[in-house]
Amino acid sequence: MYAQIAGRLTVWHAGQSRALPWREGPAGARDPYAVWVSEVMAQQTRVSVVVDYFNRWMARFPTVEQLARADQQEILKLWEGLGYYSRARNLHRAAQIVDVEFGGTLPRTRRELLSLPGIGAYTAGAILSLAFGLPEPILDGNAMRVISRLWDIGDPIEQRSTQKRLWSLSRGLVEAAARPGELNEGLMELGALLCRPRNPHCAECPVQHSCLARERGVQDRRPVRSPRQKIPHVEAAAAVIWEGERNRSRFLISRRPEKGLLGGLWSFPNGIMEEGDEDLSACVRRTVRKEFDVAVSVGDKVAIVEHAFTHFSMTLTAFHARILAGSPQAADAADAADWRWTTLEDIEELPCPVPDRKIAGVLRDLAGEESGCTTA
Ligand code: SF4
Repeated sequence: MYAQIAGRLTVWHAGQSRALPWREGPAGARDPYAVWVSEVMAQQTRVSVVVDYFNRWMARFPTVEQLARADQQEILKLWEGLGYYSRARNLHRAAQIVDVEFGGTLPRTRRELLSLPGIGAYTAGAILSLAFGLPEPILDGNAMRVISRLWDIGDPIEQRSTQKRLWSLSRGLVEAAARPGELNEGLMELGALLCRPRNPHCAECPVQHSCLARERGVQDRRPVRSPRQKIPHVEAAAAVIWEGERNRSRFLISRRPEKGLLGGLWSFPNGIMEEGDEDLSACVRRTVRKEFDVAVSVGDKVAIVEHAFTHFSMTLTAFHARILAGSPQAADAADAADWRWTTLEDIEELPCPVPDRKIAGVLRDLAGEESGCTTA
């Protein structure tokens, strides 16, 4: 069964593969660095979004060596908007290791690849098969769906035992393939183009006669997922602290500590509202005192921004604020690694999270209205 499915998928893929910038050359003989960058970018992100980011990245950092020697702030700026910023920091750290320990060339063994920051089983399998043509399995969301349907797997895919089985089936397929890279890419492409989460196009599918879920009419019920936990919602407040009472040209921002959510990015001082009596203004005052050791008065609202992270969603309300007394100083390294006064022009050059970019956009609109200019 493995050989039959692998053969049909490989033939189908040869006529179907989408032209994407990281697919230069046949699967199995591509630039390992380009495969690596594209696979990391594509995690949790739509391919259509990845294309522009990938092109900009490769134009700026065309080799492992150039990435290894880049400034982290520039890397985060290029990554801005893609989310999951630890992916960019890990790419940078891993490139530095590859540059020093492997002479700038990605290693060709699973064990060595897995030792690099941010490279897990999926990315290692993608690099080994798509770049080096080695029979190593992959298992992204698309491949998981296709395999679950082909073998009609009725257990929740999050379960450890199911994952083990899926990896084993994926390995069986790739080891039966004449061209492992093309088989793996075909498996993922089938999931992206035909074996879609809803209403799979089974009539056009090259492996329909080997598909147990289709035979049993349960393809819409595969894969089985455990019921999702509802993600929590938090209320948070941010401060746009102006340098002077009347002069609204410079405001305070801080760089988040390296480790943790949005590490290394610049943002307006902000914090999550505590449960109980605290309101948003009190949250701003507490957060700024803790972060910068100054007292502020809180003024009008600037903007309300909704944002969803992986494990929680957030309503962030930003307020104008001014310092009542004293000078700001980084009071707690766990909150801020650095801080500075900045302008609307300068913040454009810094890597910022999406909610802070939106607040800066509102400030820009307000500044345009006050000066009598209009923005598009
Ligand atoms: S027959 Fe349908 S459900 Fe089965 S692999 Fe093909 S597209 Fe997916």
